[in-house]
Amino acid sequence: MADDAQAPRRPPVGALPPCCAPMCLRLPPPCNPDTLLNITAKKVAETIPFARIEEKYDRIPEPVQRRIVFWSFPRNERDICMYSSLSRIQNNQEPGSLAFCKGMKLLETGCVEQVLQVGFHLSGLVTAPRSPPPPTLPCGDIEPPTKFKVSVSFDRCKITAVTCTCDTKDIFWCQHVVALSLYRIRNADSVGLRVPISETLLQMDRQQLQKFVQYLIAEHHTEVLPTAQRLADEILQQRSEINQIAGAPDPTAGAAADDAHTWHLDETQVCEQVRSYLAQGTYYNANKQLNSLFSKVCSIEGATVSTEIKKAHWLNCDVT
Ligand SMILES: [Zn+2]
Repeated sequence: MADDAQAPRRPPVGALPPCCAPMCLRLPPPCNPDTLLNITAKKVAETIPFARIEEKYDRIPEPVQRRIVFWSFPRNERDICMYSSLSRIQNNQEPGSLAFCKGMKLLETGCVEQVLQVGFHLSGLVTAPRSPPPPTLPCGDIEPPTKFKVSVSFDRCKITAVTCTCDTKDIFWCQHVVALSLYRIRNADSVGLRVPISETLLQMDRQQLQKFVQYLIAEHHTEVLPTAQRLADEILQQRSEINQIAGAPDPTAGAAADDAHTWHLDETQVCEQVRSYLAQGTYYNANKQLNSLFSKVCSIEGATVSTEIKKAHWLNCDVT
């Protein structure tokens, strides 16, 4: 009855990289019998945009919202493996060097903390590993480890956007995004879960809202004060653009009903990589790498492949 007990939705196109062979992916645990709320929330979370449900019903009870939000995160570790790395190891890659393998290691060594899911947004801190002895500061104290702030947006069981303060520029996700995503899948029941922030704000009266905004500005005044003042000025001008639009954006509320929901792929980086491979001429490895890249891009469900990438693919086929 439960989805989890059945075979994966798609065949595992992105097989576990050979360098990850000692680690094992965990399959979602069976959960039978399931409540009617859970069964329906699972199905709805996977197939219907949340905005569509909000349009249809004036009020969605909070327990229902929470279950839909809970089940909207990807459930299968194989998906994270597939969308975070190429399908096979490149010749010049060291075993274990893939972001997925590194992310798995970070997870298993307890480097992920402060994980919180607010609506369709997951955030957490991932500590960078370092080999002993730890570096020391000029004063003799041990240098604190670097912690990266990672966040992931998702919709209908697909990760649609990722950010990480490590600023890695790559086609696929960095190891910190992988670690956070795997952490959420393995610890789904213990990760803090809140409804979208706009829903929480709705519960506050005017006094509480004032307090909320002032505390928020006080805690982050260096970063947010210029933006806060600009927004305040705009809101106080009756004819400003912001006052012509009803409502306000909420980054935790999930995608709009008509938004595409595809797995996150940085297309600019794909184009860069294709250009770099093509510049290497017709060497065997460059063609092989290009084909590997194309098969990955094409395997991303619903991915919009740009004309430039398609052209490069045809060119590569002619060359090979
Ligand atoms: Zn990162």
